[in-house]
Amino acid sequence: FAQRPRSLPELLDRARTTTPDLPYLVFDGPRPETFTFARAHAMAAAYAAVLADRHGVTKGDRVAVAAPNTREYVLAYWATVSLGAILVGLNGWWTPAEMDHGVELTEPAVVLGSGRPLERVSGVPWIRRTGTPVVALEELHRAALSLDRAPTELPPVDLHEDDPAAIMFTSGTTGRPKGATISHRNFVYFTMHGMLGGAVNAMRDAGLYRQQPPDGQRVTLCASPLFHVSGAGVVIAVAPVVGIKVVFPGPGRWDAERVLKLTDEHLITQWSGVPTHYWRLLDHPDFDRYRTDQVTMAGSGGAVFAPELMRSIQKRMPGVQLGNGYGMTETLGTGTLINGALLEEHPGTVGPAVPCTRVQVRDLDGEPLPEGEVGEIHIQGPGVFLGYWRNPGATEAVLAPGRWYRTGDYGRITGGLLYLESRMRDLILRGGENIYPIEIEYRLVEHPDIAEACVIGVPHQVLGQEVKAFVVPESGRTLTGQDVREWAAATLASFKVPAHVEFRDSLPYNETGKVMKRLLEEESGTP
Ligand code: ATP
Ligand code: MG
Repeated sequence: FAQRPRSLPELLDRARTTTPDLPYLVFDGPRPETFTFARAHAMAAAYAAVLADRHGVTKGDRVAVAAPNTREYVLAYWATVSLGAILVGLNGWWTPAEMDHGVELTEPAVVLGSGRPLERVSGVPWIRRTGTPVVALEELHRAALSLDRAPTELPPVDLHEDDPAAIMFTSGTTGRPKGATISHRNFVYFTMHGMLGGAVNAMRDAGLYRQQPPDGQRVTLCASPLFHVSGAGVVIAVAPVVGIKVVFPGPGRWDAERVLKLTDEHLITQWSGVPTHYWRLLDHPDFDRYRTDQVTMAGSGGAVFAPELMRSIQKRMPGVQLGNGYGMTETLGTGTLINGALLEEHPGTVGPAVPCTRVQVRDLDGEPLPEGEVGEIHIQGPGVFLGYWRNPGATEAVLAPGRWYRTGDYGRITGGLLYLESRMRDLILRGGENIYPIEIEYRLVEHPDIAEACVIGVPHQVLGQEVKAFVVPESGRTLTGQDVREWAAATLASFKVPAHVEFRDSLPYNETGKVMKRLLEEESGTP
């Protein structure tokens, strides 16, 4: 290889040249199916031929996919980016109206899909109006297998690192999901630091950072949707570079029992997830029946990784290295990362910036703030996206001069480590005091009888806003609002103590595992 990889297809091409027989994808089911890098490469080339010849897909076209995480989805992903086309990851749980918005915004040349998501996208107004072909992924697969002359190479397309590779929608935690345009550079860069064993973690495992190399191949479970950075970043970028085997759990929502069973059966070595996943795994009554001692790394991201949760994981899984990463769709997961001993020494931080990336905290005028002061987190580096698809206004609003991405999250940097305070819009303004819900959430989940907590601001006539906590007790435990308030008051200033406490059996989560604060706010009358 005369040069470093600059685009996604080069990553797959290298993997099949250097490690053709290494297992890459495993699809669990009654008869698990494995794809080596060579087989995935060959199938991607065949899919690309079908997309180009039958559907006329060329560089710059969008190819939308509405499907669960199937083998066809992964292969179509590779085929699309290999053609220089742009993969639009439609959220498989979207309603027809949301699907309509997704395709109307991105105007795909062809829509691929399977199962319920395909049904939901098929008849939406934009598709009917434009007559855009909707193709079942299974059909694409059959066509690829029955090609007269199967190609042996990916299509020869000239790709630049700033060419768009995918349009990924944000989680929609704070409003309507936004279509973030992600470049090949963003993906290639993600392999440097991606939580599950990017180059940075590989150095760690090689002993450069106090951790022993794992025996044999790293194996991870892909429980995140491919339409989100947490899924695509690992499967499409990190895995081929690091040589990770990715096990797909099959259809259905995230399920602790299944994760434990697959961890045992496939000897999973790297776990990743949002904090709730870890609570559910640890709470599972059969946790100890399954083999988990080969798991060397448990990475968390997307939401607060409470120190209490970290301690609980370490107690049950001694020897596991914990990681916490902070990033977002708009930076393809790039931001900060912290693992192992450093994280244990500084629980509550999301760590230092990843290599070649800078993180700054600024005031509302965009001026950098001194250490320790709270302001808006800004991120600059090779992970920062190209912009929101066909929305220059929204793009301009979040990209400060120098392509510094304004995250909309509040935080402070202390001792070179970033501490998150809250999302800007989550900030509670109570009678002149700024309250960061995360601080209260951290405190509440430290309570031995509290499993999950979510804090929002609710309207108050005099104070403007008042603190309200939604609390999910540990199973079999009961506690009162007064217990919760006393627990909070023991360490928090009195104005931060929740005025209202509502107990729930569960919190509303979206498909990437985040609490939909928006829903709780709507129920509570917060504008
Ligand atoms: P939307 O932008 O549509 O409202 P979203 O911001 O939740 O949705 P994502 O891009 O999936 O969509 O999530 C990024 C956000 O998740 C970050 O801006 C931050 O608020 C939160 N986040 C990410 N990592 C962490 C972490 N380690 N700890 C706490 N919060 C995190
Ligand atoms: Mg966001």
